Amino acid sequence: MARLTLDDVTKVFDDGEDEIVAVEDVSIDIEDGEFLVLVGPSGCGKSTTLRMIAGLETITDGEIRLGTETLNDVKTQDRDIAMVFQSYALYPHLTARENMSFGLEESTDMSDSEIDRRVTEAASMMGIEDLLDRKPGQLSGGQQQRVALGRAIVRDPEVFLMDEPLSNLDAKLRAEMRTELQQLQQQLGVTSVYVTHDQTEAMTMSDRIAVMNDGKLQQVGRPLELYHEPANLFVAEFIGEPSMNFMSGRHERSSFVSDDVEYPFADDIERAVGDATDIILGIRPEDVEIVSGSGVAVNGTGDDAAHEFEMTATVVEPMGNQNVVHLEFPGETEGTEDLVAITEGSHKVEEGSTVTVRLPQDAVHVFDTRTGETLH
Ligand code: ATP
Repeated sequence: MARLTLDDVTKVFDDGEDEIVAVEDVSIDIEDGEFLVLVGPSGCGKSTTLRMIAGLETITDGEIRLGTETLNDVKTQDRDIAMVFQSYALYPHLTARENMSFGLEESTDMSDSEIDRRVTEAASMMGIEDLLDRKPGQLSGGQQQRVALGRAIVRDPEVFLMDEPLSNLDAKLRAEMRTELQQLQQQLGVTSVYVTHDQTEAMTMSDRIAVMNDGKLQQVGRPLELYHEPANLFVAEFIGEPSMNFMSGRHERSSFVSDDVEYPFADDIERAVGDATDIILGIRPEDVEIVSGSGVAVNGTGDDAAHEFEMTATVVEPMGNQNVVHLEFPGETEGTEDLVAITEGSHKVEEGSTVTVRLPQDAVHVFDTRTGETLH
């Protein structure tokens, strides 16, 4: 069973003067055959985590296990793990075929015919059969990345590790390779850990996402779980594009209160917010409803009216299938955008017009300003 377990894993870099805690008490259980994407901003410790799994970095504290075997003291070459790097790391003087077979020739006693069979099979999976006699310099970035992936596949490892493998490709190719990689991973059924700072890659490719910030694990869950039920402000902001809207304010009179709005909470939200005083209200752009122009609320019931606000649509970006509408509360200094809404392409909103904006109660999130934790 290629179940990969990280148990309170910590990495401290110590150069004698400074101690940098790159990874702190990270625990994740990655199931056999699962595709886990490790995501977070630059410097959050994701590459270091991956390198510890690969054995390229020692583990300061904690344990990494593959099945029941502890990997902490197992040498890189003795771990049944293949890694694909952002830089491809191909040997420039070897052909694609030689790059793919090199590792097997060096570190196993596999027969030439078996190596040939594996290289041919991997090349066919990656669609590079016709490129096998070329050297890396004669290949495009995308083709080089396929060779690098092929080299990992021929080893038939228990675990696949990938560190930003698509970041050197242009946007179109990256999107194509995303789908291909995901299909390949499913086909091979190999436990995989994929590092990226790109939340779109994380959302579209993974079975589960692990979000890291500042060396610490923030949340692990399925993509939509993180999207709809973020554990804290960091995850709420990091996952989703355009990002969730946030407004800072106070918890008073069973409402969210700021300079711009007073937003009454339903009983369940009020209970969840409890005695928190400084709070942040969050709402996804697609949940912000523009119910009408010129202040006439459509279906405006008494209850809805309390959750509707007059705003100015300062900028409208038509994208075809949808519009991105930037909204400001009245009386603001120009340029201080308050909310972003995404509306259907057919829903025309005039730039500069006053509109009624509804923030539905079932779509709002509430966070504790002090701790950043999700309250509701
Ligand atoms: P990026 O997306 O920029 O690669 P990352 O999330 O992968 O970032 P890491 O490379 O894991 O982050 O780095 C985590 C922290 O550890 C950073 O503060 C980094 O400066 C530090 N760090 C990484 N490698 C070393 C090292 N060899 N010596 C000292 N500090 C290091």
